[in-house]
Amino acid sequence: MNQRVLPNEQLLNREDDDAAALVRALQDEVRAIGLWAPHVPPDAGGTGTGFLDYAHLNEHIGRSLWGQLVFGCQAPDAGNAEILHMYGTADQKERWLFPLVAGEIRSFFSMTEPEVSGADPTTLRTRATRDGDDWVIDGHKWFSSGAQGAAFGVVMAVTDPDAPSHGRTSQIIVPADTPGVEVVRPIPVLGHSGRGWTTHCEVRYTSVRVPVANTLGEPGSGFLIAQKRLGPGRIHHVMRWLGQMQRAFELMCKYSLEREAFGSPLADKQTVQNWIADSYAEIQACRFMTLDAAHKIDQGDEARVEISAIKFYAARVLNDVIDRAVQVHGARGLTDETPLGQMLMLARGGRIYDGPDEVHRMVVARRILKAFANGEEWQFS
Ligand SMILES: Cc1cc2nc3c(=O)[nH]c(=O)nc-3n(C[C@H](O)[C@H](O)[C@H](O)COP(=O)(O)OP(=O)(O)OC[C@H]3O[C@@H](n4cnc5c(N)ncnc54)[C@H](O)[C@@H]3O)c2cc1C
Repeated sequence: MNQRVLPNEQLLNREDDDAAALVRALQDEVRAIGLWAPHVPPDAGGTGTGFLDYAHLNEHIGRSLWGQLVFGCQAPDAGNAEILHMYGTADQKERWLFPLVAGEIRSFFSMTEPEVSGADPTTLRTRATRDGDDWVIDGHKWFSSGAQGAAFGVVMAVTDPDAPSHGRTSQIIVPADTPGVEVVRPIPVLGHSGRGWTTHCEVRYTSVRVPVANTLGEPGSGFLIAQKRLGPGRIHHVMRWLGQMQRAFELMCKYSLEREAFGSPLADKQTVQNWIADSYAEIQACRFMTLDAAHKIDQGDEARVEISAIKFYAARVLNDVIDRAVQVHGARGLTDETPLGQMLMLARGGRIYDGPDEVHRMVVARRILKAFANGEEWQFS
């Protein structure tokens, strides 16, 4: 990261053909040192050895937006690989999982729809109707990240509208070149349209016909698999954010010692000292909460409360620490002379994607209150 990725960030940020060639070269270097695809175990084609190790690794590779792509564990491919590994049939793994983990193809995850609340996926409208051995899919999605140039998407669609709300949907693998799949546009997000992997796309599905054999898991298990996917996916984001927080923290500390105002370095001002002390404490809290959740996942625990708590807490800390670092840098913090402007822009979505803060607070509070309502107590173990 220090020798090859961080010094090349300006070039990578251009997102042109030279940047794409450099990404491929860096990916080859990662393969050569045996760290490729650390999110999944060797039987899925990766080098993973558990969530805890992955958390530590991500503190380093998360320092740059490009780190996870270079190490082959970027969203949404990482989450898609995990569900294919968990629920995929032998054929699905052969056709989609192994080339995905090898980095030969990219994928997208297509759940959120502009017309209904993404925070409440029981309201999804995209419909997959059974016709013989095929599904016929009609629907409208947006924020399908990375859809531009991807080989396939995992599409969440209603397959049984009469079933109870959590059994209505299925996840269906849809090759991107299937007739009727239209990547309408990359949606500009805070002024950035992206290219390929960095896009967030609007996608229409019009009479898209795919075999029922493309269903992931059992029909009707879409919601359950989404939970399985989004749980680890959320902590993947948080692990990456730990790297982003620490990078912003270091920039803030270094610059506060260099820059003078009103006769002394910024580091002498108590406001700046408070920002540094608060940031230190909050980052350290995020680290320990993340490592605790990772440890529990490795023990086979779903860690629902721990994951939701760290998702909303770390998203706020991420935004606060980067914002303080920008403030210490003054106008320079908003330019591309530091990575902070880009980090700030990308951090904001963290409070919304994979469930907005408010929904994660609701999950934490409900689960804890349920324990008390059942006459139990909450164990902070
Ligand atoms: C950068 C980015 C990348 C994304 N990538 C993907 C992707 O790859 N695939 C995909 O399918 N989706 C993706 N999304 C979509 C994301 O998952 C949804 O935006 C998210 O689930 C929220 O849905 P919504 O935008 O429809 O907001 P809504 O559900 O309409 O919610 C709007 C607001 O209402 C409030 N709210 C909602 N529920 C509650 C509640 N119970 N209590 C209190 N307040 C509440 C929250 O403040 C929330 O922000 C991405 C989003 C972003 C920003």
